[in-house]
Amino acid sequence: MNKAHLWHPFTQMKDYNNADPLIIERGEGVFLYDVQGRAYYDGFSSVWLNVHGHNVPELNEAITDQLGRVAHSTLLGMANVPAIELAEQLVRIAPKGLRKVFYSDSGATGVEIALKMAFQYWRNKGVCGKTAFVSMNEAYHGDTIGAVSVGAIPLYHETFRPLLFKPHLIPYPNAYRHEGGAAAAMEETLSALRLLLQTRAEEIAALIVEPIVQGAGGIIVMPPGCLREIAALCREYGVLLIADEVATGFGRTGAMFACDLEAVAPDLMVVGKGLTGGYLPVAVTLATDEVYGAFYADYEERKTFFHGHSFTGNPLGCAVALASLRLMEERNMVEGVRTKASFVERKLAPLLARRHVGDIRQQGLMIGIELVRDKESRAPYDWEERIGVRTTKRARELGMLTRPLGNVIVFIPPLASTEAELDAMTDILAEAIVSVTEEGWDG
Ligand code: PMP
Repeated sequence: MNKAHLWHPFTQMKDYNNADPLIIERGEGVFLYDVQGRAYYDGFSSVWLNVHGHNVPELNEAITDQLGRVAHSTLLGMANVPAIELAEQLVRIAPKGLRKVFYSDSGATGVEIALKMAFQYWRNKGVCGKTAFVSMNEAYHGDTIGAVSVGAIPLYHETFRPLLFKPHLIPYPNAYRHEGGAAAAMEETLSALRLLLQTRAEEIAALIVEPIVQGAGGIIVMPPGCLREIAALCREYGVLLIADEVATGFGRTGAMFACDLEAVAPDLMVVGKGLTGGYLPVAVTLATDEVYGAFYADYEERKTFFHGHSFTGNPLGCAVALASLRLMEERNMVEGVRTKASFVERKLAPLLARRHVGDIRQQGLMIGIELVRDKESRAPYDWEERIGVRTTKRARELGMLTRPLGNVIVFIPPLASTEAELDAMTDILAEAIVSVTEEGWDG
């Protein structure tokens, strides 16, 4: 029935239908169990979002408690208690200045909202012509049309180009792939941005960035100081800064938000994924009072933000998000991520000596291991070799689930993973990489 009726996301169904399908029945802690009862470590946090593990009593209880009251109403002209309480908590922990919370239900919708807010902000202020966006090469912000427009991963986004608006693209600082290393990569990014803003700032509404770690582009960590400089340039030239913290938010990078790592205060910030501990689809676009204020007017002035979704501010989702944030604080999880990250870094370091491991990039518990055909020249494996797919297939055979990004093996474990669990997961990673790249394992 799976093969007959399901069309899976980001999946060539012909490949999928020829492979052995994995059907998950339940989860417990960092493990997922398939219908045959086999256990797998959730090595990518079920697409980068799980925080506390699966089937967590406190989170289950938050949902069932709320379920006994109301599953959903709407935020159209009314409110609900969990949505109000969560908004207050988010404002408390968010980077300085973000004081208003707009709900939606996925990272992509949160990004759409940020783009539309930025666009309308300037119109409402009576500033004409600031309609364009700046984005970065290899950026990923979700799969709806606006989010795809500011995306720049050719494989995912090129097909739709004729349907999209065109952003100004600047290089993302990729130290491993830049001849001059980190400093030169950063300089290239900043000079491209400076030049663009010097000449076109009056046409530009906002810059959107994945702060500190570019996720789907290959888990690429920015050189230190780069985000701060990007933010400063935006401020200097009167361009709004949108931080897309969908992947990096809620402790993943070793800070509550990646922006905190460089004390950056964006004008708009999008969060999703880990907000509910990875339990239910809730996303949020946070805005400053300055942005909100441009929409606050008499109805006749036509400054209202006409945007919303049926499930906006869903009380079940907000209730579990509140419980997740409470657990994060009680268990001191952000600090825990930093300790665990050092452990993983030490564990993975010897892998760099292997013949086909080109680069290991890590920020907190967000890790990418880039496999290369030739280490000396850094020449990548050919696409047809599907080295990433094969490696994750081998990892699954060894008992851990993850998904590759091309030739980059992603390791994004649940934040609650213990050191013993991280130890076992990194062993599987290393064995899968060696067995595919050195021993020629091919399923
Ligand atoms: N922005 C970033 C940085 C992401 O990594 C993702 C998802 N991987 C999204 C947006 C889109 O989120 P969603 O899949 O919930 O729409």
